[in-house]
Amino acid sequence: MLDKPDYKQIIKEIEVELKSIVSEGKVANYIPELAKVDPNKFAFHISSIDGENYGFGDLDEKFSIQSIAKVFSLTLAYKLNGEDIWKRVGVEPSGNPFNSLIQIEQENGIPRNPLINSGALVISDILYDTLSNPKVDLLNFIREITDNHDIEYNIKVANSEKKTGFRNSALINLMRSFGNINSDINDILDFYFHLCSVEMTVKELSKAFLLYTNHGKLLTNDKEIITSTMAKRINAIMHSCGFYDEAGEFSFKVGLPGKSGVGGGIAAIYPGKYSVAVWSPKLNSKGNSYLGMKALQLLTAKTKRSIF
Ligand code: GLU
Repeated sequence: MLDKPDYKQIIKEIEVELKSIVSEGKVANYIPELAKVDPNKFAFHISSIDGENYGFGDLDEKFSIQSIAKVFSLTLAYKLNGEDIWKRVGVEPSGNPFNSLIQIEQENGIPRNPLINSGALVISDILYDTLSNPKVDLLNFIREITDNHDIEYNIKVANSEKKTGFRNSALINLMRSFGNINSDINDILDFYFHLCSVEMTVKELSKAFLLYTNHGKLLTNDKEIITSTMAKRINAIMHSCGFYDEAGEFSFKVGLPGKSGVGGGIAAIYPGKYSVAVWSPKLNSKGNSYLGMKALQLLTAKTKRSIF
């Protein structure tokens, strides 16, 4: 049995060691608003299930969580619609870039998983059908699990993506042609771009992800948001599909279920122990935060706690 890690000391060591690593990669620029972000921002925050919280860097700065928000929309759609959602989206890694069109054509409009763009668009369509006031209800759900009513969409980022989201437009049209999108395409794209524009600090993000650490219950009041089986399945999907076509590499080097976003954020969890969020906008060639991955690799090596 391993001793409980000294998170405080380990986080200090990570801060020191990261200073000697030169960050490679580039800030995402296909969404013009994201290209304006300072590439040298960095923040890291860990929340343990016993209430310990440590971090360093730009801890109170909000950033665009982008695809990390797909975990929240999946959680709400799964909670409201149960196992039926798997009739419209799969649970297999795609092995392709997050915005790839190829498999959608080959696999008759059924996306490989809910964390790539095509899958998140189908989940958005399901939620749009289910919720009475989709944008408001989704935001309220994210606020509830973060225990913070300051969480907002960034309308500038959503509108910026709307102007340049040609691949998402192509994906949703293709899926519509196969009958896997029900509502108006422009409404779903608008809803999806708002979802991706949610902003959080690393503190807020690590707190929100405690839901998945804590097997589907809020840590603050023990309320069950999803069943432990649902939480287990979402964690499994994050593990196999959360890092674009680099999910295998992330598993190999870090070994935690998690999700990255093109805003440079990564959120990850160790079930029953901790959740962690990191933000560094420079992305590697697969679209994952370069320094974020290094930081998490150090964390699981030093704590000797990964799922493996
Ligand atoms: N809004 C982004 C897109 O659809 C999200 C991509 C990501 O973070 O992976 O392209």
